[in-house]
Amino acid sequence: MTRPRFNRILLKLSGEVLMGQNQFGIDPETVARVAQEIADVAKDHELCLVVGGGNIFRGLAAAARGFERTSADYMGMLATVMNALAVQNALEQIGVDTRVQSAIPMDTVCEPFIRRRAERHMEKGRIVIFAAGTGNPYFTTDSAAALRAAEMNCDALFKGTSVDGVYDADPKKVPTAKRYDTVTFNKVLSDDLKVMDASAVALCRDNNIPIVVFNIRERGNLARVLAGEGTATVVQNEGV
Ligand code: UDP
Repeated sequence: MTRPRFNRILLKLSGEVLMGQNQFGIDPETVARVAQEIADVAKDHELCLVVGGGNIFRGLAAAARGFERTSADYMGMLATVMNALAVQNALEQIGVDTRVQSAIPMDTVCEPFIRRRAERHMEKGRIVIFAAGTGNPYFTTDSAAALRAAEMNCDALFKGTSVDGVYDADPKKVPTAKRYDTVTFNKVLSDDLKVMDASAVALCRDNNIPIVVFNIRERGNLARVLAGEGTATVVQNEGV
């Protein structure tokens, strides 16, 4: 099936995408490969990124092991800044102009998040990498991605993960699980399908921003899916 083509997109990279085959941390070769794929599509699209931090630190998991939740969440947000700098470094090594903007100001490391400035960077062809999530505990970088996609007037939110779309059951546990080509926001919410957390899905629904879920670990897939080809699931409103 063919899918619509989008011009300005927000690409959400979860932290686990940056680990490669490892169980933790940043794998430089994987980051370089993902950066090259981003550079290839940046020639034809306006791109901004939100980077997760789960490869380094997750607040909820740490809280379960006795950390105070808000401190743990701030640690998680700081982890996303490390990932953002790694992605920035890889992109700049191949000649792509980027800026990192953090929701938690840290002037000596990167710019603070200023929407109008981010807009200007994108107009100049730079890739803006949004770090530190929303800047608030009790949120995730999925919600940050939905928020920034709305603020930056993106046509779609592309979620690059390690599965090739949205299934009606967990494909790792249920061999007969069926993948959707398209599914509505409301079905995702009512059936509690694993796409993004509910607040991120609701924000995209209310602002009519389709979510395209695809496997970014498969080489060349970002370009294919952006071209409206390849395997992915589009989450969208009814009647689109
Ligand atoms: N986080 C937060 N507020 C935000 C975004 C992230 O507190 O707006 C924290 C939270 O602890 C989360 C961690 O940062 O577990 C890493 O983000 P996330 O789990 O979304 O990363 P991903 O799963 O995408 O790698």
